[in-house]
Amino acid sequence: MKQGQKTRVGAIGGGQLAWMMALEAEALGLELMVQTPKSSDPAVSRASEVIFGAIADATTTERLAERCDVITFENEFIDLEALSSLEQSGVCFRPRLSALKPLLDKYDQRCFLQDLGIPVPWFKSLNWHHLPENFSFPVVLKTRRQGYDGQGTLILKDREELNKAAKTFADVPVLVEEFVPFERELAVMAARFSSGEVVVYPVVETQQINQVCRWVLVPAEVGEKVQQKVTEISQKLLNELEVIGILGIEFFLTSDGQVLVNEIAPRTHNSGHFSLDACYTSQFAQHLRAVADLPVGDPSLKCGGAVMVNLLGYEESESDYLQERERLAQLPGTHVHWYGKPEVRPGRKLGHVTVCTDSTKREELVAIAQKIESIWYPA
Ligand code: ADP
Repeated sequence: MKQGQKTRVGAIGGGQLAWMMALEAEALGLELMVQTPKSSDPAVSRASEVIFGAIADATTTERLAERCDVITFENEFIDLEALSSLEQSGVCFRPRLSALKPLLDKYDQRCFLQDLGIPVPWFKSLNWHHLPENFSFPVVLKTRRQGYDGQGTLILKDREELNKAAKTFADVPVLVEEFVPFERELAVMAARFSSGEVVVYPVVETQQINQVCRWVLVPAEVGEKVQQKVTEISQKLLNELEVIGILGIEFFLTSDGQVLVNEIAPRTHNSGHFSLDACYTSQFAQHLRAVADLPVGDPSLKCGGAVMVNLLGYEESESDYLQERERLAQLPGTHVHWYGKPEVRPGRKLGHVTVCTDSTKREELVAIAQKIESIWYPA
């Protein structure tokens, strides 16, 4: 990174995560360039430069790398093999590609966690031609790659549903795992710097409906022991992977206090969006600080608690929902973030709202989330 010049960070991916990162890059005096396929992608309007091309197209990344000091990821649907020749020829990826390798495929990720002795749900890779007889339903079927927002995750109630899935996913590598009757879902963001220092954000509770995140409550109302388990797992993971940058880690908390890792996202994550308004240093700023070798930021809350609610599409439309957004913005302590996506589809993440509050009580935080949803979704 040349002295006296702004550090130029390249992000593979131009969705809402890069859009939020671009705002923080500007505040930190960095340049953020993105690689993204479409001119309507959220980050295009905010990035200092855009290299158009598919996420998995390494030749586009090569062009991005020519313009940047360091390349990072807002999207993990990359072609790792094709990128490795760039890394060998001196392109600086943060995290480096070997840290991403065990994480990009859900089956590999489960194996990696198991090898480290980190608790995960029982799982098995599935061969459609030799289906085992002895499933106890429900089971959860997951595509090994390209899954997001519940796309590629199916909860199967019985053999009939399994047989149906066998037709839909006949040519797709999948795994199955036990259905965990969790008490709560938790998540945490954690960043590691090149010095080896790891910073962990407050543990949050996430609420999913139909496998899509609806809201996030922070701090999670969990005891000291659970907090400690989450922190220990996070630190172990980041150190083992020698990650530089931030990871999002999702957990299942069972009624007997077990903490199982569900998924690791090697990037900023929806469960950390609250940090933009509720923490001294947001997940986006922290990630940029780590990849650009800037000093570590403070991940702590600057308010008692916070609620983040995703504004999900519920119809096909081209509306910008201005009236609903204005109503939401009138609630006290509320910050509305609108990603400016041109097309609305059911389940699509269009924006989010964060409410900062003095309260840390779960039922009060849930009531805030419900209030926001009652304004956003039609009755
Ligand atoms: P994605 O990568 O699409 O986010 P996840 O694996 O995180 O998929 O699953 C999405 C949601 O589906 C989880 O947050 C959880 O609510 C539910 N889910 C996933 N796996 C299981 C499981 N093994 N048992 C119970 N629920 C699960």
